[in-house]
Amino acid sequence: MSDTPSGDRVIIIGAGPGGLAAAMLLAHAGLDVEVVEKRDRVGGRTSTIEADGFRFDLGPTFFLYPLVLERIFRSVGRDLRAEVPMERLDPQYRILFGSKSQLICTPDVERMQAEMAKIAPDDAKNLPRFLDDNRVKLAKFRPALESPFLKWSSLLSWDLIKLLPAIRPWASVDDDLKRYFADPRIRLAFSFQSKYLGMSPFNCPSLFTILSFLEYEYGVHHPIGGCASVSEAMAEVATELGARISLNEGVEEVLFEGRRAVGVRTNRREIMADSLVINADFARAMTKLVPDHIRRRWTDRKIEKKRFSCSTFMMYLGIEGVEDQLAHHTIYTAEDYIANLGDIESRHVLSADPSLYVQNASVTDATLAPPGCSTLYVLAPVTHLHSNVDWQHEAPRFREVVMRQLRERFGIRDLEKRIRFEKVVTPVDWESEYDVYRGATFNLAHTLDQMLHLRPRNRFEDLEGVYLVGGGTHPGSGLPVIYESARITSRLLLNDHGRKVEWLEDREPDFAEVRG
Ligand SMILES: Cc1cc2nc3c(=O)[nH]c(=O)nc-3n(C[C@H](O)[C@H](O)[C@H](O)COP(=O)(O)OP(=O)(O)OC[C@H]3O[C@@H](n4cnc5c(N)ncnc54)[C@H](O)[C@@H]3O)c2cc1C
Repeated sequence: MSDTPSGDRVIIIGAGPGGLAAAMLLAHAGLDVEVVEKRDRVGGRTSTIEADGFRFDLGPTFFLYPLVLERIFRSVGRDLRAEVPMERLDPQYRILFGSKSQLICTPDVERMQAEMAKIAPDDAKNLPRFLDDNRVKLAKFRPALESPFLKWSSLLSWDLIKLLPAIRPWASVDDDLKRYFADPRIRLAFSFQSKYLGMSPFNCPSLFTILSFLEYEYGVHHPIGGCASVSEAMAEVATELGARISLNEGVEEVLFEGRRAVGVRTNRREIMADSLVINADFARAMTKLVPDHIRRRWTDRKIEKKRFSCSTFMMYLGIEGVEDQLAHHTIYTAEDYIANLGDIESRHVLSADPSLYVQNASVTDATLAPPGCSTLYVLAPVTHLHSNVDWQHEAPRFREVVMRQLRERFGIRDLEKRIRFEKVVTPVDWESEYDVYRGATFNLAHTLDQMLHLRPRNRFEDLEGVYLVGGGTHPGSGLPVIYESARITSRLLLNDHGRKVEWLEDREPDFAEVRG
């Protein structure tokens, strides 16, 4: 059965963070919005795994720079903090450098300098300069992150030449940090965040030193109930604003008249629309839902040649007891971190001593597990799908490697016999269960040749009436920029529909307001 568009009908494929933020903004502006989501819940990679009284975040656990989402909530007349209580973590995380040393990272600059001084006294002195320089860098680059990059000339209008000294595109994150910190462990503490983009700090453009800056300046937050609670609140608000969210409904094909998208065919029906917003993983959606021959720039062959982020091997453990000695976030970096990165990005093999991140959120949030129990979320960055690794064969073995790391590096005792619930997600599952191309959990890599106007554009250049939101388009992967993509895309779409965009949040943000 098909139905008729009213003139302002928008379909959003996918209820991930980008899709939900766009649904809020577009429904608030008065468009007729329907979100079609394949899975049984909202949030995409920012959703939950719930079983036996345990609740885990599937993906994001670091909620950074809430400012962007706060602006979106404010612009639809709501208050994010009232909808989702959050705690700012202090310390924000603990980093274990192989078996040799550790750093307890706190947003309090003086205490952080004291911590740094324990392993590198000279570097500690340079923390204020690093923060000052990155404050300037973010302020200069922020307009670029908030604008659409629809063509080459957009680069000129931002006068990027003037930004070059601040952004230093020729340098990597690690190179840039050498200007402040001589000790490689300190550099690691301010550069492991490039893993949020699925990249090594040795390849990641130096612009992204702003990631660690954002943590120290604006905090690492834990939304109570996990980051998925944020997605759930967004879905509720979008629905209250009039958007319809249909779960368990997968889009199987985008319908076209020529190159103009006119609707979608799902597993249940045909739905016609005036505009289509794709939030599903970009590469996966293109190769599965849109015929190859009508695309020009992003054909299957070209997508195949792009650089993709790493993937992750995940373990979600519901356990008896609470690990009081373990911080909310702990990052273990391999003894030979550089070799570990090479295994992930170049050699595409599994490391014997993998880096590992563990979230022990029950020390902050009692809502996640039954009384006397807790949740452990374990993430090992690994290669995206590659013929070198046969996960069917490797998953049980790699699980044992991870269990050994938890025992020996994190000091978690008797773990095996305390497990009440366990789920493992491999790169194969990311692709088959969660529709992520090559299991590359952080989308297209953020190399300079795949950013700004060179990333798939928010008003999608290959098709008519098609827009993109989420980690696959500009500005990139990571929740704050994904929410920003929804603002950019919604603005373009509303303009194309002849609607005036008058969002409250267009005033300059009051940064002091969001530091707390
Ligand atoms: C393990 C992991 C850890 C991460 N950690 C962090 C972190 O700590 N902080 C941070 O800021 N970011 C983090 N990220 C990155 C990023 O913020 C999330 O991946 C985010 O959820 C991506 O949002 P998105 O809008 O691109 O859409 P997605 O979350 O990818 O959602 C897309 C939606 O589209 C749906 N869909 C797909 N195909 C179809 C179809 N054919 N029909 C209908 N629906 C479809 C999917 O089911 C999904 O619900 C992490 C990601 C992962 C995977």
